[in-house]
Amino acid sequence: MKTENQLLDSAMAWGADYFGIADLSPVQNVILEQGGAEIAEYPRSISIGIALFHPIVNRLSRHIERAAAVSYRSHCYDIINERLDQIVSRLASVLQRLGHKAFPVPASKRVDDDKICAIFSHKLSAHLAGLGWIGKNCLLITPDMGPRVRWATVLTDAPLKAKGRPIEERCGDCRECVNICPVSAFTGQAFRSGEPRSARFDAGKCDRYFSKMKEKDAETAICGLCLSSCPYGKH
Ligand code: SF4
Ligand code: SF4
Repeated sequence: MKTENQLLDSAMAWGADYFGIADLSPVQNVILEQGGAEIAEYPRSISIGIALFHPIVNRLSRHIERAAAVSYRSHCYDIINERLDQIVSRLASVLQRLGHKAFPVPASKRVDDDKICAIFSHKLSAHLAGLGWIGKNCLLITPDMGPRVRWATVLTDAPLKAKGRPIEERCGDCRECVNICPVSAFTGQAFRSGEPRSARFDAGKCDRYFSKMKEKDAETAICGLCLSSCPYGKH
């Protein structure tokens, strides 16, 4: 069996809903700037996604109730992140056993408090793998589940075939996520490859909003309105 198929079958058997392989060469500079030379040395990435649960996402609102917040944090964040981390760790072990370098990137770990970002953009990898487009909310929008998917990535030097092609942006005139954000964190500008995230999103506004919510009540500090409002994936 080809390595790509073996990895796909394993990921699906371990609970992934989405799987894609990306060629990272067109965005090497962006990766270098975000994660440094050690991260930018990998030519391929494997994106793994797990879909969120509609009944839980649909309960997100500006005045979120405690029970809804607890459900979201547990089953749409902590547990799904843990499941993703397990899958990318196991895939990385498979690749390493086959003699390749493999670097599992955690599902949700901020490493830069100034830029408010992780070591690598899962969304960029999933976009290049053909799994969706980057929406005006700076999330990866899949055609079927919209932004209701969480992501993790394995970086590798294995010569895997990247079959997917980036999906063209399909937001059109929609501004649901831009208008609903309580702190106007989005500019409404569409994603353009190579442009910094700051052209579209003031991550500091979102972060400060979240910190304020946390000060009031850590249990109910959840927003996600830019995710739940997207018509793609809304049921
Ligand atoms: S999570 Fe909330 S505050 Fe942050 S960008 Fe989305 S809508 Fe705005
Ligand atoms: S809510 Fe509309 S503008 Fe925002 S990401 Fe979804 S489709 Fe795009």
